[in-house]
Amino acid sequence: MLIVQKFGGTSVGNPERIKNVAARVARYRAQGDQVVVVVSAMSGVTDNLIKLAKEIMPLPSEREMDMLLATGEQTTIALTAMALHSLNLQATSLTGAQAGIVTDGVHTKAKIQNITPKQVHSLLDGGNVVIVAGFQGQTVEGQITTLGRGGSDLTAIALAAALKADLCQIYTDVDGVYTADPRIVPTARKLPEISYDEMLELASLGAKVMQSRSVEFAKKFGVIFEVRSSLNDNPGTIVKEETLSMEDVVIRGVSLDKNQAKVTLVGVPDKPGVAAKIFKALADATINVDMIVQNVSHNTGTPATDLSFTADKPDLLKAQKVIEQLQEEIGYQKVISDEKIGKLSIVGVGMRSHSGVAAKMFDTLANEGVNIDMISTSEIKISVVIDIARAEQAMRAVHKVFLEKQPA
Ligand code: ASP
Ligand code: MG
Repeated sequence: MLIVQKFGGTSVGNPERIKNVAARVARYRAQGDQVVVVVSAMSGVTDNLIKLAKEIMPLPSEREMDMLLATGEQTTIALTAMALHSLNLQATSLTGAQAGIVTDGVHTKAKIQNITPKQVHSLLDGGNVVIVAGFQGQTVEGQITTLGRGGSDLTAIALAAALKADLCQIYTDVDGVYTADPRIVPTARKLPEISYDEMLELASLGAKVMQSRSVEFAKKFGVIFEVRSSLNDNPGTIVKEETLSMEDVVIRGVSLDKNQAKVTLVGVPDKPGVAAKIFKALADATINVDMIVQNVSHNTGTPATDLSFTADKPDLLKAQKVIEQLQEEIGYQKVISDEKIGKLSIVGVGMRSHSGVAAKMFDTLANEGVNIDMISTSEIKISVVIDIARAEQAMRAVHKVFLEKQPA
């Protein structure tokens, strides 16, 4: 088999861990498998490099940032190759460019355009383990680029696609994808499998196991991969295209996002163009808006409505400023913002073929005495905004109802 194995920052966080990675790779080699290893920078290294740059100047050139950050992964590939050598294995490290990863020229968030892994193939044929630096590539003009934070996942998935690997394993510091965050829900279980779409929803909802872009890439190219731990030999979670039997399970997981805040504009004139103005101004300030809820008009003389939206908590002050600057132009009554909210979501492709899922979730919250502020739904997700003080309790209750066996 040809296997691509990706090891994240904590999995290569010190020399001991790097030796463990080498020992794992050696076990696969001993079975006769060919192995391509993709590594991240050692944990904390990328953050430190960013900090260093900011000490030189607040807004460094993005080209130079890529030059700087690419060194993190370059350190790890060389150390990993040495660790394999010390086990008497043939191993060669390659930068992203040497591995044939060609990107566009958008520094610090480049997109992979194509991969021509000629060197990878010939090294594998020569009996080498090939260690590729994650997170980096090169433009056709030969400029070093990086793929955005967490981009080593993307390197691994894209290489697995280009090499037509038989297996792609993403090694991290958790055992796989869980039905909920086990730190909040002790009864959470590791999932044997999950669909790309469910994984994307859970990731975007704050259950960050992997960079979302790499899951999208895997979906687009049909790369089946496994998320598993580098600290033990437990099987992980297989991420793949949805299968029929996946719909038998109504809800795959529950997640809680505590990183959002809610802004409500009270008494917004109900006429064309108002929402456009508000959200254009927010977008211009690069504020990422998530949920939006608008009511029907109040039954008063001039038609007015209340409009609420959620945004990332760190952007709240910025959002308030933007909205306040619109007061005169738009003429709403007042703004209320609330940081003490949590967004609780249930995700599952089974929702499409089961009815009463929303009712069951709302009923569970009602029984807990939890008030719902906002609701939004998609085909495979239901989210509610609730008081943050009750959010963890609500999460446990919802998990219990949907994901724990009920006594007969
Ligand atoms: N080292 C990069 C980062 O910290 C890429 C990665 O770890 O995937 O974002
Ligand atoms: Mg990482």
